[in-house]
Amino acid sequence: MRDVLASLGLADVNPGGFDGEWFGSGPVLEVTSPIRGERIGAVRQVTRGEYDRIVDRAAQAFHSWRMTPAPQRGEVVRRLGDALRAKKKALGALVTLEMGKIAAEGEGEVQEMIDICDFACGLSRQLYGLTMHSERPRHRMYEQWHPLGVVGIISAFNFPVAVWAWNSALAAVCGDATIWKPAPKTPLTAVASIRIAEAVCRESGVDPAIFSLAMGTVEDVGEPMLADRRIPLISATGSCRLGYRVAEVVGKRLGRSILELGGNNAIIVTSYADLDLATRAIVFGAVGTAGQRCTSTRRVIVHRSIEKELTRRLIAAYRSVRIGDPRAADTLMGPLVGPDSLRVMQAAIAELRHQGGEVRYGGEPLTGPEYAGGAYVTPCIASARNDMQVVQQETFAPILYLIPYGGAARPADHDTLVREMHEAIGIQNDVPQGLSSAIFTHHVVEAEEFLAHSGSDCGIANVNIGTSGAEIGGAFGGEKETGGGRESGSDAWRQYMRRQTNTLNWGFALPLAQGIRFDV
Ligand code: NAD
Repeated sequence: MRDVLASLGLADVNPGGFDGEWFGSGPVLEVTSPIRGERIGAVRQVTRGEYDRIVDRAAQAFHSWRMTPAPQRGEVVRRLGDALRAKKKALGALVTLEMGKIAAEGEGEVQEMIDICDFACGLSRQLYGLTMHSERPRHRMYEQWHPLGVVGIISAFNFPVAVWAWNSALAAVCGDATIWKPAPKTPLTAVASIRIAEAVCRESGVDPAIFSLAMGTVEDVGEPMLADRRIPLISATGSCRLGYRVAEVVGKRLGRSILELGGNNAIIVTSYADLDLATRAIVFGAVGTAGQRCTSTRRVIVHRSIEKELTRRLIAAYRSVRIGDPRAADTLMGPLVGPDSLRVMQAAIAELRHQGGEVRYGGEPLTGPEYAGGAYVTPCIASARNDMQVVQQETFAPILYLIPYGGAARPADHDTLVREMHEAIGIQNDVPQGLSSAIFTHHVVEAEEFLAHSGSDCGIANVNIGTSGAEIGGAFGGEKETGGGRESGSDAWRQYMRRQTNTLNWGFALPLAQGIRFDV
């Protein structure tokens, strides 16, 4: 552990504020690992006054950064990607230590940071605007994209570093400065990431305040950030409760926000599914990261004709999941992030039983000496109905609800197949959240019904791939209570810029649009 911390430049107690200098004189936040409950280190958070200083400095950094040509900004982000490549093992190990996800996923998260840096570097030469044909003679119309300003990034514990990279790499090539408020459970990975970015900026002769850090409490940093008119865009990742608060406060000042909130993701498994593929995808989606991904599979909507067989396969697969220290190479499921998460999971299972659901496998805390100090649990499979209150909500833990649909046999005709598909889609959509969804089928009609306008209402809809593990190239995010935000690939970059429409008259007359005459 000490080697990992040292290689990332972390001390025992670390300042939680960075604006080109490191400081912090607020409350000390002790950081314990979910693996054994042992102390990893501490962060001295910033005060309200220090937060103000960080915003002022970031705004100053923005003013020069926005005039740096975009491809040069891209070059700095490319170097950031290279620096992350060099630190991938160490930073991945710290993610595992601080958050509890298995080593492969910890390193995978750093790989996402590297991928988005590569993507953003290419993007820095592609911040395209359109040109339009003016209705007036000798006029030209076009639009250009300008840097926006200071972007506030609020991140959740479960992707402690990738979410910052998705936002800050794009924001940086767009010419913005960012201020990051990490989750209180994972401040050390944040300090380590900003230290890497700082070194890259210094080597590149760039003001390192373009990647600022404000680790502080919700009172000293979180809430002031939402209300701060110096910050035109807040990108918030977390629970739906957080999203409602951001929408309220940022909306009140007519600021922009990107909301990346909770999911309640389902996989539909039809009678035409390849059950081998479906089983593997469900287990990865529901058990991976101990069910603590926004895209974790929470519901399986299974055709009655295969319900028994799929349940049998899932239980067999769940029995073989190796649970334990996430640093061990053969572990597939580590601990929950803390004892509170375990309590929430137990309460959800009790509620499920109360509402008439049945636990088919797991859901028990693990108590042997190898689990001491951590919140380890067997992942749970349960039979449920979609309209149960507990199924309608996101419980951030590995509970998988099995919900049957359709008839006892594979549909015998086209009308039945379509009707049953609509039933499954109706169940899938009948939750408040709309993040990720998937269908397993080799029947083209079922797949297309799922992808049609009347199909899945989620931001992500996959065929023969599970709900979690998105690539950075696509726009990531979801609808309804998931918040409607999109991050990462595709054209998500546009949110970090302001669009300007320009009309240019190169003639000697002043014709008005819509043919209006206004002669003086
Ligand atoms: P959380 O909502 O408890 O906290 C998220 C962040 O918001 C933390 O940094 C927290 O300090 C901050 N925060 C809380 N209240 C605030 C306020 N009033 N003002 C400003 N900041 C405030 O979420 P969590 O437990 O850390 O993470 C789990 C949740 O995040 C799940 O619901 C999960 O689905 C969601 N999540 C969504 C995505 C996505 O992209 N859609 C990705 C990861 C996690």
